[in-house]
Amino acid sequence: MKEVLLIKNGELALKGLNRRTFEDMLIKNMKWRLKSVGRFTFTPSQSTIVASPEDENADLGEAVEKIKKVFGIAAFSRAAAVEKDFQTVLRSAAEYLEDNLLSARTFKVEAKRSDKRFPLNSPEICRETGGYLLGKFPHLTVDVHNPDLTVNIEIRDTCAYIHGKQIKGAGGMPTGSSGKACLLISGGIDSPVAGYMMAKRGLELTAVHFASPPYTSERAEQKVHQLLEKVAVYSGRTGLWVVPFTDIQEKIKDECPEDIFTVIMRRMMMRVAQIIAVRENAGALITGESVGQVASQTMHAIACTDAVCGIPVFRPLIGMDKDEVIAVSRKIDTFDISILPYEDCCTVFTPRHPRTRPTLDYVLNAEKAFDWEPMVAAAAENARFVLIKSL
Ligand code: ATP
Ligand code: MG
Repeated sequence: MKEVLLIKNGELALKGLNRRTFEDMLIKNMKWRLKSVGRFTFTPSQSTIVASPEDENADLGEAVEKIKKVFGIAAFSRAAAVEKDFQTVLRSAAEYLEDNLLSARTFKVEAKRSDKRFPLNSPEICRETGGYLLGKFPHLTVDVHNPDLTVNIEIRDTCAYIHGKQIKGAGGMPTGSSGKACLLISGGIDSPVAGYMMAKRGLELTAVHFASPPYTSERAEQKVHQLLEKVAVYSGRTGLWVVPFTDIQEKIKDECPEDIFTVIMRRMMMRVAQIIAVRENAGALITGESVGQVASQTMHAIACTDAVCGIPVFRPLIGMDKDEVIAVSRKIDTFDISILPYEDCCTVFTPRHPRTRPTLDYVLNAEKAFDWEPMVAAAAENARFVLIKSL
């Protein structure tokens, strides 16, 4: 029996005129994700996309695991695609869903008929199929309100589809459909989660990491590669720019008051990241900041950081508690990598008594201590590119 995936695209249905573009993007993302499983054809019809394997040996179970991680899908199911002959449909339903029917105690049948030439209408299909399955599986009873199993029959243009349980999709919007943004990624727990969350809202990612050798090691950078590989499972292939940050950090340490060291460092990071964002055609920055988590993330400190940004800064974790962030990082499998103990440039020169309510005047004045502009330009210029493939 030929098996396909029936994909229900979530919010896409709401997008009116843009729908085609969104759908095309979703199909492109699914194609890319299923490449290692086999060749598939994708046929959109109404709010469903039918993904059909071209290759007899394609492993549908593996395809299901891949599709679970593609954004822009509300739910999907494995379905049998059979000839539109009602006897065939009945027999196939009993055969294809045999295991499910045997383990259920109650069931109902739902039918959709988009091919109006089919001799039975939807209520008739439900009634006849229900009767047939009760005859074959006498232990079952019908429960239309809360059944253990729903048997779905869809009569479409080219064939009939039979499916049981729906699988929950990753939700969100197709990656790339909202444009591109630049993720500031450290080796910590928060920023990979922030990248995942914005990719879920349809943003393609390009990443920036600030490295301060010899204070930070090669292994710290490798850790960032590993984190991005995990995020890329959801967000797709991602470019990473590794920015040499040592000179700027040392200069800040030598020239600026210690209590706002971190705020000034974050402003420098934002400046460099914006240059890279423009170069990469990215329209926003993404960080893993959350209000009050550390001294550089108080409202006042964030205001000082934001003051250098000419493009929006997305901070999807802004209102989340650490345990909520950790729950997501476990889900996307970044947590165990994030807690590996390599130094990040942020932890290299941590002030002993950071100012939690810095004012912009104080910060601007402190920044006058050195000529940062050429250093920022040089850091952006000397960033090294690494292509991160998804696992
Ligand atoms: P994370 O867990 O993401 O490291 P954090 O709670 O440790 O976050 P900070 O170290 O203050 O917080 O960093 C705040 C945000 O600044 C990070 O989420 C990240 O977006 C960005 N950031 C920090 N360090 C770096 C770095 N070395 N390279 C790129 N971005 C960074
Ligand atoms: Mg950090």
